[in-house]
Amino acid sequence: MPKILDGTAIAATIKQEVADEVKTLAAQGIRPGLAAVLVGRVPASEIYVRSKVQTCADLGIYSDRITPPETVTTEDMLDLVNALNSRDDIDGILIQLPLPVQVDTKALLDAILPEKDVDGFHPINAGRLQAGRPALAPCTPAGVIEILKRSDIPISGQNAVVVGRSDIVGKPAAMLLLHQNATVTICHSKTRDLPAVTREADILVAAIGHPGFITPQMVRPGATIIDVGINRITTREDFDRFFAGNARREATFLKRGSTLVGDVHPKAFELSGAYTPVPGGVGPLTIAMLMANTVRAAKMRRGL
Ligand code: NDP
Repeated sequence: MPKILDGTAIAATIKQEVADEVKTLAAQGIRPGLAAVLVGRVPASEIYVRSKVQTCADLGIYSDRITPPETVTTEDMLDLVNALNSRDDIDGILIQLPLPVQVDTKALLDAILPEKDVDGFHPINAGRLQAGRPALAPCTPAGVIEILKRSDIPISGQNAVVVGRSDIVGKPAAMLLLHQNATVTICHSKTRDLPAVTREADILVAAIGHPGFITPQMVRPGATIIDVGINRITTREDFDRFFAGNARREATFLKRGSTLVGDVHPKAFELSGAYTPVPGGVGPLTIAMLMANTVRAAKMRRGL
């Protein structure tokens, strides 16, 4: 039976560690602060930001939720970022993506002070990460490493295959695995004979954005599978494709009219040695690592 890597439990441990650190900083008169910028009214973004702000409150981190209107301009947003850059009570700036089309997302992310870039998206942080210097690393890939380490899954010397090369997940995940001495292969939509490459993986990281893309034929038996994907399925056809015969999932699906599936087909997990479920795998780590990055930024900015 494969081992289920319980991201919810690992995230809870990390959040407790962050809360303890926040208490230690409080004794020195320091309270880490996060600005969460939510533009317009995208329901998924609203849920994410609510959850981030709530987690700040739970851990004793100050947070400021800022909600510019849908019609905001790039200039207005740059003014906002500059103001947040100068605020001493703010250690981390988070701009919830996606932004409306009229806003130049790259210009905005580049305007965040690298020291306050708790999402780790600034090119300076990407460069520092690549160069193996202290950096604020993107939260989801950092969470992937925490899951592996805290589950005692060896990384050093292992073949790690990352499917996906986005700047926010695939590339930084590959870089972090490399720094842990894995032998890393990065795959993408132009990779030739992808199944042959993924079957070489001791650790397979899927960050593709296509539901159930990694099939059993693509997995080496016993491999560790980290499924970063989050896809909502709403049709009966999709449900049957992924979860036929899964009574517990069916109950959720019938109640809510949807359920989540990762980028890995559930049948592929059955072959693995260990895997992260969806939901409850990588997802919870993203917020936990955002909190850890905020505290880290607060300390680094003060030279601690
Ligand atoms: P992107 O769309 O930015 O990147 C997807 C990557 O997958 C690209 O590099 C693309 O290749 C590759 N890809 C697409 N199709 C194929 C294919 N047929 N074969 C091989 N590679 C392919 O997605 P993200 O990196 O932002 O997100 C990936 C997944 O992770 C999504 O499901 C997203 O919802 C989830 N996610 C989860 C988070 C969490 O907290 N758990 C946080 C962030 C994302 P190419 O570059 O060639 O186009």
